[in-house]
Amino acid sequence: MDLQKKMFEELRDKRIFDLARSHAFSYSDGIDKMDVYPSEENLKGMEIFDEPFPENHTDAEEIIQKLHEYGSPATIAQTGGRYFGFVDGGAVPVSVATKWLSDFWDQCGGLYVTSPINAKLETICEAWLKEIFNLPKETVAGFVSGTSMANLSGLAAARFRLLQNQGWDVNKKGLNGSPKIRIIAHAQVHASIKKTMAILGLGIENVEWLPSDDQGRLVLEKLPELDNSCLVLLQAGNANTGAFDPFEEVCHKANEVGAWVHIDGAFGLWAAATKSLAHLTKGMELASSWSVDGHKTLNTPYDSGIIMCKDEEALISSLQATGEYLVYSDQKDPILYGPEMSKRSRAIELWATMKYLGKNGIDKMVTGFHERAKQLEKGLKENGYIVLNDVVFNQVLVSCDTDTITSQALEHIQNSGTCWCGGSIWNGKSAIRISVCSWATTEKDIDITIGVFKKAKEKAGQILSTN
Ligand SMILES: *Cc1c(COP(=O)(O)O)cnc(C)c1O
Repeated sequence: MDLQKKMFEELRDKRIFDLARSHAFSYSDGIDKMDVYPSEENLKGMEIFDEPFPENHTDAEEIIQKLHEYGSPATIAQTGGRYFGFVDGGAVPVSVATKWLSDFWDQCGGLYVTSPINAKLETICEAWLKEIFNLPKETVAGFVSGTSMANLSGLAAARFRLLQNQGWDVNKKGLNGSPKIRIIAHAQVHASIKKTMAILGLGIENVEWLPSDDQGRLVLEKLPELDNSCLVLLQAGNANTGAFDPFEEVCHKANEVGAWVHIDGAFGLWAAATKSLAHLTKGMELASSWSVDGHKTLNTPYDSGIIMCKDEEALISSLQATGEYLVYSDQKDPILYGPEMSKRSRAIELWATMKYLGKNGIDKMVTGFHERAKQLEKGLKENGYIVLNDVVFNQVLVSCDTDTITSQALEHIQNSGTCWCGGSIWNGKSAIRISVCSWATTEKDIDITIGVFKKAKEKAGQILSTN
């Protein structure tokens, strides 16, 4: 059969879409009953995908069917209430529905002329984000795939400006023989920052590394004298402890001499959008650039990060896109504000999520993560866990009496199917890292999770005493 004809028919009769929708709904309805992490058997089921590249056409319904039958059970129950791994947020329902609709639009988000609606919603999101984070009016935003790309964009802008300060055009002359950029960071910067320093040729060994305190914050007293060749890397939300660096003090010093401060606020920047937690981000508006994710704390679907930068010229120059065929408009052309050209129109879901929640809804959701984290902290303490961090935001870091018991307890938790969280090392000790960042997590989910932790610790203790 002629494939083009077939594709027109699939669009017309909608059967594959109805099938996908019905599977999606049964998945979503069963989310709290499925294993939070897939069982061995379900993981093994994925072997069905080990097959040669087909020579010929495969029936579309068969593809959807197969994906649901073997793919759905091999997923992480990310959208349920008891997944606490990494700092992976859930998804607000309207953001998923919006994504479905805009998937049919299949917009290329690079330029105004390739998608006026995406460019429009980027402009709206930019204004709303500036307002909710209280950023300077000259701030511009680029909509990228995540905070890794946002960090890359922010640091590229910093590199451009700091070399420009020293009379060097990095776009034209590159890094060979360039003046030096002094990079000031503390031990607890995120892995994505180190990745970025490698990609941008800044070099990890060139960093003037400062110590971090017991919560993973920069130790202010160790900050060296700054000048206009300095890039200072700060963090809103340490990935283990949720701690925030002292923005106000560092930014004041940096701004006096024209240094650049970048704040990686992947999940933590959203504290600024609440009444009760905004004190954590005090002074952050004094920085030069900020990274934040939509897909973590704000609970948009994946592939949503934002770079915000006070120095529009530096951002645009560092990510410059030129080409005779590029048609810039008098509207916002997204291509200028991020490293990508063709891109998914991710601002559409971001807009829908902010519009749906409103400022009060965002405040309530984010404050709720903190409240659930405090509930968890209390419950775990009562059951003999040692809480290693000050629970200032949504992260709870715990351990048992010894590393062996901690690792065994974690294994029980991860195999429980009831909840899931990851491990970490904190101050040389094995730790269990819990992140509360889904709108779907209820107080009851936290109670159930405390129960799983209690049992896991008892079991770990038993194994040890029988050995
Ligand atoms: C998650 C995270 C990143 C990386 O963000 P992605 O969206 O995964 O690219 C960077 N910094 C911090 C602090 C994070 O938590």
